[in-house]
Amino acid sequence: MIPVTTLRNKNVALFGLGGSGLATAQALAAGGAKVVAWDDNPDSVAKAASEGLVTADLRQIDWNGISAFILSPGVPLTHPKPHWSVDLARAAGVEIIGDVELFVRERRAYAPDCPFIAITGTNGKSTTTALIAHILKSSGRDTQLGGNIGTAVLTLDPPKAGRFFVVECSSYQIDLAPTINPSAGILLNLTPDHLDRHGTMQHYADVKERLVAGSDTAIIAVDDTFTTLIADRIERSGARVVRVSRRQPLADGLYAEGARLLLAQGGTAREIADLSDIQTLRGGHNAQNAAAAIAACVAVGVSEDEIRAGLASFPGLKHRMQPVGRKASAVFVNDSKATNADAAAPALSSYDRIYWIAGGLPKEGGITSLSGFFPRIAKAYLIGEAAAAFAATLGETVPYEISGTLERAVLHAAADAEKDEAGPVAVLLSPACASFDQYKNFEVRGDAFVGHVATLPGVTMLIEANG
Ligand code: ADP
Repeated sequence: MIPVTTLRNKNVALFGLGGSGLATAQALAAGGAKVVAWDDNPDSVAKAASEGLVTADLRQIDWNGISAFILSPGVPLTHPKPHWSVDLARAAGVEIIGDVELFVRERRAYAPDCPFIAITGTNGKSTTTALIAHILKSSGRDTQLGGNIGTAVLTLDPPKAGRFFVVECSSYQIDLAPTINPSAGILLNLTPDHLDRHGTMQHYADVKERLVAGSDTAIIAVDDTFTTLIADRIERSGARVVRVSRRQPLADGLYAEGARLLLAQGGTAREIADLSDIQTLRGGHNAQNAAAAIAACVAVGVSEDEIRAGLASFPGLKHRMQPVGRKASAVFVNDSKATNADAAAPALSSYDRIYWIAGGLPKEGGITSLSGFFPRIAKAYLIGEAAAAFAATLGETVPYEISGTLERAVLHAAADAEKDEAGPVAVLLSPACASFDQYKNFEVRGDAFVGHVATLPGVTMLIEANG
């Protein structure tokens, strides 16, 4: 845990007692702050109280004398409208911050030079964050990985010289971190997402820009209009910008040419890494993630050999285009996280010949937007409630069967893939649907897929059946 000492002996109000909120309240208390915490959910309040935290309805407290208000990133700061606790803090003139801000203040106080890499963007945050942490760890560096990826940042070990922090930041966390100042900040891409919580695309982009604007080195993938404008603006302000691109050659920066990543300086480029044989980093989207990760590692002093070794041994993230098994020329890929058509597109674009397991609880729009990938699909195996609708979309153009269950889909897809002489092929679970009709969540669905693959005769598993 990182005890928050920068608010020692101060009165602090906190709202939002989910996982990260509870950890934040404990870190504040451990550092000597006088915290009063609350949540709209009585069970969360009871849990906090049972762990020794002081709880009180923030509508009943005296806001005079409160030094800071700590808000959980899941609670609306601005849109669709500020939460009532935000209104109270604003009326009292109390600053509103989140756990990432508390972390950056601790770092500034005790170890301002310890390398801190922060990652944001609409897509690819977790992959890039995990990849950077993997490269750092596998080169023997003391590495802490947290933030939006699932480990609350204040549960990490405290900042100290020589310790590396790799922190995934959602836009909500950045909105609550006014002085965020990473050694290297990454902005991967900006496409419409979460606009219910940000109002306009411009506001969403402005929030994300703050992370890179505060960085010693701003690493920006310039593959969309918003990020390109941001890179130009930050450069004009005099800060150091490293551009990366998955789509276009750059005179200066790091760009992808297929699976090769090139480092260009003053118009001269040389290869820095080749992703062709790295199963866990397939596809143009992963070229973007890897290019950004490499730029960040270079910025904090990792050697190119260390970077290449880390890329080659990256195990990938669970449920995201994760290669889990092999049989003859077939690779079995778990992309259970793809819960809508947009999210399934990267996986479908990453393999040339696919036995595709899709379906579940359908989302609006179905799979019509994926029709450009249909020529890659050798056969589709449809499961869950969406099966009939997906069958109608596939129609005459793609062979399909209605398998119904995931187990049957895996068995049938594996048998057909085995007979395919055109190989290599992928047996891909990328459902383009939510899982809730048949599973508790996408993780349970992905684990079930791995379990079924593991029972196939002659399969070589690439991961533990439960891992
Ligand atoms: P996030 O943490 O931002 O949600 P993840 O790394 O968990 O992103 O990836 C989630 C999904 O987003 C992946 O399965 C893939 O479909 C897609 N994706 C990953 N990286 C990118 C990228 N750089 N650009 C576009 N889509 C991406």
